[in-house]
Amino acid sequence: MLLSVNDLKKRYGSHTAMEGLTLQIEENQCVALLGPNGSGKTTTLNMLAGLLSPTSGTIAFMGKEKIDRREIGYLPQYPAFFPWMTAMEYLQFAGKLSHMPKNGLRQTCSDMLEFVGLAEAGNRKIGGFSGGMKQRLGLAQAMLHDPKLLILDEPVSALDPAGRRDVLEMMMKLKKRMAILFSTHVLHDAEQVCDDIVMLKDGHVKWSGPLEELKNGRKDETFILTTEEALPEWVGEKEYILEYVSVTPKTAELTLRHLKERNLLLRDCMENDLAIVRFERKNHTLEDAYMEVVNQ
Ligand code: ADP
Repeated sequence: MLLSVNDLKKRYGSHTAMEGLTLQIEENQCVALLGPNGSGKTTTLNMLAGLLSPTSGTIAFMGKEKIDRREIGYLPQYPAFFPWMTAMEYLQFAGKLSHMPKNGLRQTCSDMLEFVGLAEAGNRKIGGFSGGMKQRLGLAQAMLHDPKLLILDEPVSALDPAGRRDVLEMMMKLKKRMAILFSTHVLHDAEQVCDDIVMLKDGHVKWSGPLEELKNGRKDETFILTTEEALPEWVGEKEYILEYVSVTPKTAELTLRHLKERNLLLRDCMENDLAIVRFERKNHTLEDAYMEVVNQ
């Protein structure tokens, strides 16, 4: 296990910002930390990056009860760049700050610029960079020393759609090389890259587990049914249908009591000679699941 967090708590004075945080991250796992503003995401990431001391609880990193900062790359929500530096100068500066050996540093920085797609812009001043380019440079800085865990605080939230796509694509590539823990309140972005989700609300973990489990683990079973002719009334009146939402005269969303009852519905359609054009399980989006968990 790369990171193992047990019952972490953080108080700021009398305010408890995080309580009972227990989570585990394996090598090469990509975990999204979701939650509304003020739910404790930045506090959590700062504790796991070793920048903030927890009030209580334990963090074990690679089996030791001590965070090894050399194995962690961190990109804050608002990274500070010097606009007058070039991208190459900035990376070399960051490398020296984190005590990377001088020998070969320039080459490592150059490789990193290449990896994040900024090779051409290496000698340009950061002041002229777009938001997406700056964020890619921030990623290059965070992973310069080839850490085992990359911690990214809201890496895409402030970007326009092109910048967001750029950074998400980078993250897709990066997760093959290292574990990533990132926070976001943009659910669609989380859905594209993460394997697992930790949902926070008011300083507590409301749900954690694999993304697919969250999306499919709902009790209700909703199907979309489309028929050749207008849907007859009896469909909505069946005892096994909990909810009937008419989408068009020929299409409805049906929520069954149990998954297995879809066969009852199909049998009834056949017995009543109702020609089915489409019958499929409705895919729940992460947003549906998120709203359900957060509003509990
Ligand atoms: P998020 O990143 O999810 O928006 P934060 O971790 O920034 O949440 O904040 C969690 C809670 O802790 C909020 O209520 C916030 O106001 C409070 N908080 C954060 N940092 C401090 C601080 N340095 N001093 C006091 N309260 C803080």
